[in-house]
Amino acid sequence: MNFVGGKFVPSESTKKIPNENPSDRTDVLGEVVLSTREEGRRAIEVAAEAYPEWRATPAPVRGRMVSRAGQILRDNKDSMAELVCREEGKTVAEAGGEILRSINVLEFNGSQAARMSGETIPSDLPNNLIYTIRQPLGVVGTITPWNFPLAIPAWKLAPALVAGNTVVFKPASLTVETGTRLVEIFAEAGIPPGVLNMVIGSGSEVGDEIVMNPAVRAVSFTGSNPVGVKLYEQGSRRGLRVQCEMGGKNPIVVLEDADLDLAVASATSGAFGSSGQRCTATSRAVVVEEIADAFVEKLVEKTKALRVGRGDDPTTGVGPLVDKHQYESVLGYIRIGREEGAELVYGGGKVTGPGLENGFFVEPTIFDKTTPEMRIIQEEIFGPVLSIQRVKNFDEAIEVANSVPFGLASSIFTNDTSKSLRFVDAIETGITHVNSPTTGGEAQVPFGGIKATGIGDREQGSTTLDFYTDVKVVYVDYTGTKRAGHLY
Ligand code: NAP
Repeated sequence: MNFVGGKFVPSESTKKIPNENPSDRTDVLGEVVLSTREEGRRAIEVAAEAYPEWRATPAPVRGRMVSRAGQILRDNKDSMAELVCREEGKTVAEAGGEILRSINVLEFNGSQAARMSGETIPSDLPNNLIYTIRQPLGVVGTITPWNFPLAIPAWKLAPALVAGNTVVFKPASLTVETGTRLVEIFAEAGIPPGVLNMVIGSGSEVGDEIVMNPAVRAVSFTGSNPVGVKLYEQGSRRGLRVQCEMGGKNPIVVLEDADLDLAVASATSGAFGSSGQRCTATSRAVVVEEIADAFVEKLVEKTKALRVGRGDDPTTGVGPLVDKHQYESVLGYIRIGREEGAELVYGGGKVTGPGLENGFFVEPTIFDKTTPEMRIIQEEIFGPVLSIQRVKNFDEAIEVANSVPFGLASSIFTNDTSKSLRFVDAIETGITHVNSPTTGGEAQVPFGGIKATGIGDREQGSTTLDFYTDVKVVYVDYTGTKRAGHLY
C-alpha cells in the first residue's frame, strides 16, 4: 500500500508482482501492487500542501523526530533484520549490519538539525554584515535500489526531512516491505501527515513522474548507471537538482610487502559479502606478479570455506542473489569471462541442493589471468565474482586500477607509507581505504563516487545537507547611509 497524507492507501492499479524471498521463492511475503503515474502525482500534490507548515517547524524539532525514528528502529532491530533477510536475501548478520548503519544514520542526521547553520563573512565595507542561511527546497523525490533497502532510504529521507523538505519516496519494487516499515517508523516518530509519502511503483512510471513533475525540486537517486544517467538527462533538462549515486568496479591493490592474510581476508569479505551485491563490493584484485600466485592460492583456500546458503541459516557465508534477473545476469557474466579467455580458478556454477532448490544461489567465483579490456573487468557484475589483474609494479597497479569507467571505492594493501599515500593521491575513486576492505562506511562521513559512479553532491556526513538545502546570502547594511560608489 502507498503511504500518502499520513495514511496507508491501497493502490487502484491492476499491475501486480509477487514479493518473493530470494532464498526460497515459495516463501511469498505478499503482493506488490505497482501504482500508476497518477497516484505518484497525487502524492506529490499532498507533499506540496504539507510543505509550508513543515518548513516553518524549527529544525531542532524536526531533528528530534528523526532521532526518535532511530530509537524506534533500535527497539525493533531484530525483527527488521529478519525482514531484510527475508525480502532482500542478505544473511541475518549482514542485515543486522545494515540496521545498525541505518540507526547511526538516523541519529546522526537528527543531531545535524541543530547545526543547520550558515556562515558569517567579513564585508569589504564598514558596518556591513554578511551571513548565509540554509533553507529547504520544497518537495524532494527519493528513488532507491533494493540492495540496501533500509540504509539507503534512511540516508536520503533523514537529511531531506531534517532540512525541512517534504518527500515522495519510491522504494525499489523488489523491497517494498522494508521501505514500508521505515515509513511506519517515521510516522510513529511524529513526522506529520503529508510530510513523508511513499508510492510503490515501477521506475518507468512512478519514478518517471517524480523526475518530471514540476512540483518536485530535487531528486536523489541511487541505482544503476544507465537508469541514473537517463534520469539525470531528463531532470536537468527541466532544471531539476539531481543527485545520482551509481555503480562501481572497485579494486583492491595488493603490493609485494602486503600482509597477505589481511589482504585475502579483506578481498574475500569485500567480494563475496552480501553476495557481491554492494556498490562498494570488491570486484577486482590488482596484484603485483611477485606475490600473485601466493595471493590466489590463499584466496581460493579462504573462498572454499564459504558456505553458500539461505539468508536465514546462521552458517551461511554467501546468500542468494536478489532475483531471477540478477541470477541470470551474474551467470551470464561468468559465461562471458570464460568466453573472453579469463582463467576460472574457483566457482562459476549455480548452487542447489536440499533447501536451496527455490533460491538464486551462485558459487563465489574467481577469475585469474584477465586483461584490462575484458567485459568482466570493465562492467559492473553486481554478484559474487572477483577478477584478478596481475601487474608488474606499483605504477602499473595504479594505471590498471584507474582504467575503468567507475570511481566509487578502492583499497591498497601495503606497509609502505609512501606508496599508500601516493595511491590515495592518484586513485580515481570517491572513497579509498588503506589496509581495509573496499566496503563499509560510517554515517557521519561523506559517501559517493566520481567518474561514471556519481553525479552531484555527496551523500551522508555533514555535506549531505548541501544537496537538500539552498544557501541564501544576506547583506545587512547598518551604516544608515546611502552606499557610496559601486561594489561588484
Ligand atoms: P536500478 O535498476 O537502476 O533501480 C534503482 C531505482 O530506480 C529503483 O527504484 C527503480 O525502480 C528506479 N528506476 C528504474 N527506472 C527508472 C526510471 N526510468 N526513472 C526513474 N526511476 C527508475 O538499480 P538496482 O538494480 O535497483 O540497484 C543496483 C544498482 O545500484 C547497482 O548498479 C549498484 O552499484 C547501485 N548502487 C549504488 C550505490 C552508490 O551509493 N553508489 C549504492 C547502492 C547501489 P524499480 O526497480 O522499482 O522499477
